[in-house]
Amino acid sequence: GDKRLRLPPWLKVDIPKGKSFQKIKEGLRNSGLATVCEEARCPNIGECWGGGEGSATATIMVMGDTCTRGCRFCSVKTSRNPGPLNPNEPLETAQRIKAWDIGYIVITSVDRDDIPDGGASHFAEVVRQVKKENPELLVECLLPDWRGDLDCVDVTAKSGLDVYAHNVETVKRLQKFVRDPRAGYEQSMLTLEEAKKRGPPGLVTKTSLMLGMGETDEEILQTMKDLRSIGVDCVTFGQYMQPTKRHMKVEEYVHPDKFAMWEKVGLELGFAYVPSGPLVRSSYKAGEFFLKTFVE
Ligand code: SF4
Ligand code: SF4
Repeated sequence: GDKRLRLPPWLKVDIPKGKSFQKIKEGLRNSGLATVCEEARCPNIGECWGGGEGSATATIMVMGDTCTRGCRFCSVKTSRNPGPLNPNEPLETAQRIKAWDIGYIVITSVDRDDIPDGGASHFAEVVRQVKKENPELLVECLLPDWRGDLDCVDVTAKSGLDVYAHNVETVKRLQKFVRDPRAGYEQSMLTLEEAKKRGPPGLVTKTSLMLGMGETDEEILQTMKDLRSIGVDCVTFGQYMQPTKRHMKVEEYVHPDKFAMWEKVGLELGFAYVPSGPLVRSSYKAGEFFLKTFVE
């Protein structure tokens, strides 16, 4: 049927804005670079952009705005052939970021199965240019699964990034109902495992799950154990929100106490940090968590 769950009170929020928010906003306006934070109207923008002491975090997307895949939770537009990559994107991105007053950037992309290497060498070049132009900036990349192509994992893991992130999105059983058929649990685990092995010593690996898709507690726990067994350092948990009526339905609005429980369990299992809450996205306060855990 089309019975839909009511939005619980903890998902109706005002957006607080921290101290560096306005400065970043102005820098962004002058830079000509679009952020995922603004385009997705992310509720965490005040907390992420407002982070102090070099921990302000923003997310941008590269390799175009059109994905070759179609995951059932995702509102990014799709096409079989989104057109060529912009060869100037690495340098342009690097120079535009200079106008921002942020300490940590999350660079994500659509999946480009139309390109022979999935865009891996292009993505790596973005990271190299960003680091060259902004040597102090910490860089997290949220990367595709590269169809399990380990050469792509290799080139991106060695690009100079600080955090290699790839999202498993959900538990093993639900993969085929949630993600594009070209994605999969084992394939995603493989890329995270190999990134850790092939990247520089100390490279941090990270993943994210959406809750409220019908997964059980046992399945969440098993996923966390699987992630720890391949050395994944960080995991985040957030509530799945249905972007439009055509996307998969929310099975459950998970209570904030439950999210807090998963954070505790995650820390006990040895994850370095476990941002977990109804509004958490994979990039939620990523700079703050990273600096607190790995730098201070
Ligand atoms: Fe931006 Fe991610 Fe923070 Fe949302 S959670 S404001 S997308 S950095
Ligand atoms: Fe969305 Fe990523 Fe899936 Fe593409 S691969 S449809 S961008 S979640």
